[in-house]
Amino acid sequence: MLGNHLTTRRKLLGAATIGLASPYLLSSNLVAPDGYAQDPVSQPESYRVNKIQLGAMKIVVVSDGRTIQNRPWETFGTDRPPEEVKMLLQQNFLPTEQFVVSYAPIIIDTGTEVILVDTGFGEDGRSNGAGKMLGALQAAGYSPDRITMVFLTHLHRDHIGGLREAGSETFAKARYAVNATEYDFWISDARVGTATEGNHLQVLERVKPVAAKTTFVTNQQTIAPGITAVSAPGHSPGHMILLVESEGRRLVISADTVVHYAVGLQRPNWEVRFDMDTAGAAVTRQKVLDMIATDRVPFIGYHMPHPSVGFLEKRTEGYRFEPASYQFDI
Ligand SMILES: [Zn+2]
Repeated sequence: MLGNHLTTRRKLLGAATIGLASPYLLSSNLVAPDGYAQDPVSQPESYRVNKIQLGAMKIVVVSDGRTIQNRPWETFGTDRPPEEVKMLLQQNFLPTEQFVVSYAPIIIDTGTEVILVDTGFGEDGRSNGAGKMLGALQAAGYSPDRITMVFLTHLHRDHIGGLREAGSETFAKARYAVNATEYDFWISDARVGTATEGNHLQVLERVKPVAAKTTFVTNQQTIAPGITAVSAPGHSPGHMILLVESEGRRLVISADTVVHYAVGLQRPNWEVRFDMDTAGAAVTRQKVLDMIATDRVPFIGYHMPHPSVGFLEKRTEGYRFEPASYQFDI
């Protein structure tokens, strides 16, 4: 039974421990200028949008673009020999010296609410081929004023940068929702003088100004009818995913549970530089990916390559990613 199934999965996720023990990372985070090359494909005028129908809800991926980074073995499988990482990339027909990261903010249009899930880099990303969420939003037929709620899965800069544009709030009519633990972690003065200080300052600049309009969410909280936020810590202290259901159709918005569609899914236990608590992230990854595979539900990962929607098949080791095709059309 669907309901019981969800409840069980939520309990499983709720039991995951929050690992605050290793608040490093982000010293060389997603906008480290040395890590990038210009993306020849993502021209400023090309906005990528993917609309699907989920029961009565419209789900729209409004791509923030993508960036190119170097030396994948320094980000994925950092606990493995570089040769092993390169071999896996090769097996997946991927280059070994560089990799592409996509960014997939999502609109959930329920008919009464228009919820934007994460906001991309905003202005800061434009020189690197990202920061296109606003253009994609408008290309999809949504003006910023139509957004009634912005849900932030966590507060890393590639998720919060789009909250402000030209010095003002991008979504003037929206209210906001973010995990309470995540907000408390990033707002704390304890970040000053650590590797996480840069991201802390971003949170002070972009998220704190809207605190009065923000709901601080806890595990398994319903943020709108059919949309439940579930704690999935590890990537960051209060990282959350969303379970979406409409007219019996389900979708998991897995945020940054997994970052690379091949390496991360095929070797979910490998360490990832972007995960703040690597061990905790691996535990969460196992639980979330297992739920997606077992329940055969579609998922959208924030960093899955555009159009970003797919399914998972469990393998002896890890999972196989099957990109969605016409499953939502008939
Ligand atoms: Zn991210």
